[in-house]
Amino acid sequence: MMQNQTETIAELLLAWFDQNARILPWREDASPYRVWISEIMLQQTRVEAVKPYFERFIRTFPTVRMLAEAEEEYLLKMWEGLGYYNRARNLQKSAQIIVRDHCEEIPSDQDTLLKLPGIGSYTAGAVASIAYQKPVPAVDGNVMRVITRILEEDGNILDKKIHRKIEVFVTKMMPHDRPRDFNQALMELGATVCVPNGAPKCERCPLQKLCRVCEHANWDIIPFKEKKKPRKIEKKTLLIIQNENGIVLRKRPDSGLLAGMYEFPMLEGPASEEDVLDFTRQIGFLPVQIRPLENSKHIFTHLEWQMEAYLVRIEDPAFSGEKERLGSYLLLEKNETERKYPIPSAFKAYTKYLKMKLGNELFPVPEQEKT
Ligand code: SF4
Repeated sequence: MMQNQTETIAELLLAWFDQNARILPWREDASPYRVWISEIMLQQTRVEAVKPYFERFIRTFPTVRMLAEAEEEYLLKMWEGLGYYNRARNLQKSAQIIVRDHCEEIPSDQDTLLKLPGIGSYTAGAVASIAYQKPVPAVDGNVMRVITRILEEDGNILDKKIHRKIEVFVTKMMPHDRPRDFNQALMELGATVCVPNGAPKCERCPLQKLCRVCEHANWDIIPFKEKKKPRKIEKKTLLIIQNENGIVLRKRPDSGLLAGMYEFPMLEGPASEEDVLDFTRQIGFLPVQIRPLENSKHIFTHLEWQMEAYLVRIEDPAFSGEKERLGSYLLLEKNETERKYPIPSAFKAYTKYLKMKLGNELFPVPEQEKT
């Protein structure tokens, strides 16, 4: 593409952005700390889903030092609902490095940012350009889509060479007086006009006269992404084991999937009522009632959990209010779980049972037992 065409793209894009930029909490006050937190949250989560978590997180940890010094369990609790919890852990590790090595200032230089845990080329570019007006590219999925369509680039977008090619193109177009707005404009166009699912809204796009995909109407094949292997499926049987005030949970190991989070007891594969009752006894509880619950599934990046579930009522020992340890299984006070223990969104379908009081609604009394 000719130099004057790339300049025209930048001008058209910025004029469009001036009129159409969405009001977002991290744009209102683009301090480096807020930009960094928002960019990490946005890595795998949609803008609308991030908004409420962002405000709460910033209120809870208003400075990089408070984030660095937070208790991990509390930090994960504040991250609950956003998923991909390693992002929160890396955020804290980075905060500790920033406090120790950078006088509590978020670095402005792309190479220094890249050395922080959880920061790749996109996030480093986004923080450097949005928070510090550095003329560096920030190429996320939205930007890849817009640029591959403008250029009619049909190479595999998962290929590093194609990614690099797009970064070079964006750098060439970058107006040095407005890198923050330019990068955000590209992302905004991808999120709201050159959309990923269904036809792009070319009639509303400031770049339609320069866009090759718009001219050839081949948006359905560009960007091209090579098919990944199908996700592995794991079947689980999840158990809500509870009495009047307590519920049984277990902390997951400190590394691997959902590391350090709390989960309901689970058996691998499908299980009968008898299997579940045996298991409940094995972990030290006396079951008194059981009933099946709704099935659910959760999709991770490379894995899908298909869950069947049972509700098991256990004997009601006097509950001391302290957690009782039975192996790795903990009988926790229900009221506390909501406040203190991070539960991954993989169990979203069942977290309602954490607060539920046991009663006839869940375990209906058979007709013959009613007086
Ligand atoms: Fe995307 Fe259409 Fe704009 Fe091209 S003209 S960038 S395909 S919305």
